[in-house]
Amino acid sequence: MNKGIEIARGKTKVLYEYPGHPDLLVVAQTDGISAGDGARKDEIPGKGRLAAQTNARVFRLLNLCGLPTAFVNGGEDDDDNETVVRRAQMIPLEVVVRGVAAGSLVRRNPGLQRGALLLPRMVEFFLKDDTRHDPLITPDAIIAQNIASPAEVAAMTEIARLNFEILAHAWRKRDVLLVDVKIEFGRLIGGEHKGQLVIADVIDNDSWRIWPQGREELMLDKQIYRNLETVDEAGLARVKAAYEQVAEMVGSFPVMRPGMVAIVADGPERAERIAPLNGALAQFGLPAVRHVASATKTPAYVLQLVQQLEATFARLVYVTLGEGEALSSMLEFATTAPVIDGTGDPTAAALRVAKTLGLEDTILFGRTLLVQANARSGVLQADAAMQQVPPNAHLG
Ligand code: 5GP
Repeated sequence: MNKGIEIARGKTKVLYEYPGHPDLLVVAQTDGISAGDGARKDEIPGKGRLAAQTNARVFRLLNLCGLPTAFVNGGEDDDDNETVVRRAQMIPLEVVVRGVAAGSLVRRNPGLQRGALLLPRMVEFFLKDDTRHDPLITPDAIIAQNIASPAEVAAMTEIARLNFEILAHAWRKRDVLLVDVKIEFGRLIGGEHKGQLVIADVIDNDSWRIWPQGREELMLDKQIYRNLETVDEAGLARVKAAYEQVAEMVGSFPVMRPGMVAIVADGPERAERIAPLNGALAQFGLPAVRHVASATKTPAYVLQLVQQLEATFARLVYVTLGEGEALSSMLEFATTAPVIDGTGDPTAAALRVAKTLGLEDTILFGRTLLVQANARSGVLQADAAMQQVPPNAHLG
């Protein structure tokens, strides 16, 4: 990759300028591995390449779901151990989301059973300061010390939770339990979204705890290295094998399972409802074929359509637009694909479709979470705006 001058160097990363693109950086992940704030340090040849692959595949998934991140591209094929990211001013916090009690949480809370499910998920902030061993810091202290604004703390909490749910879903599909994950945030330095809060830094096999089949002893993450009693060649080889396995497993994280929606309007009177529904589905990136057919006037055509569609698409969901239940009842018994009633709010109908296909598809699952989060914040913003209107404004 075309790199400019080195601008910073960390324990496992080197940052370079990206010539001709002042708003971008090249991140090279190194073969270094460390634990205990650098007290234990080793090199595993090839680890940087595996880390960059893992990181790129995770961030591609997050970008496809619509989460704000600094990741642009790289990490595959000829990119070796390098990725391109948007330049961001880093916020010196580690944001940890936990779904299962482990690690420092259990050390700090001896009453807490290791492996206990945490509901709701727990979000913790740690101040990045190696000399003080990255101490826990409260949201109030983050705001009081001007590390981040109240709005940023709220956004980091929300985005970190969404990130956890998306990665947990992806891992669950592979029968792996995501125990916890650490991310970092930055503010974009340039471009049209200047100042926007984004997930920055890297997310790789050093960033999380993952337990296949929910069994801690099968762990595949950096904890294997932390747990080595003595670091020898055999131990490091075990660590590398786990990193290889993880890079391979996350290979399909950013792959969307193709799905198709068949919108069927029951008669020409309902054809005008197709376009708004199609628009709502497009929000999720869901393609749709559109048809008009009538359960009472053209029943044979409905059955022919079902045969045709089922022979063409493996993962199919029908959305019916009718007044009564004639068409949906007919389809319910004519097809093995799910049939969803699309009358009413198009966004709600699109959500139903996305959830159905999202059971097997992490990208759709993530997009569903984001649409719901945006809907929540829309309500909160509207309420906040309402409170700012002076009570007697309408008398004016
Ligand atoms: P804990 O606080 O239990 O030690 O860690 C919680 C989660 O954050 C674990 O998944 C752990 O791997 C991750 N984590 C904690 N500190 C660091 C760090 O300095 N670097 C990285 N990459 N991950 C960390």
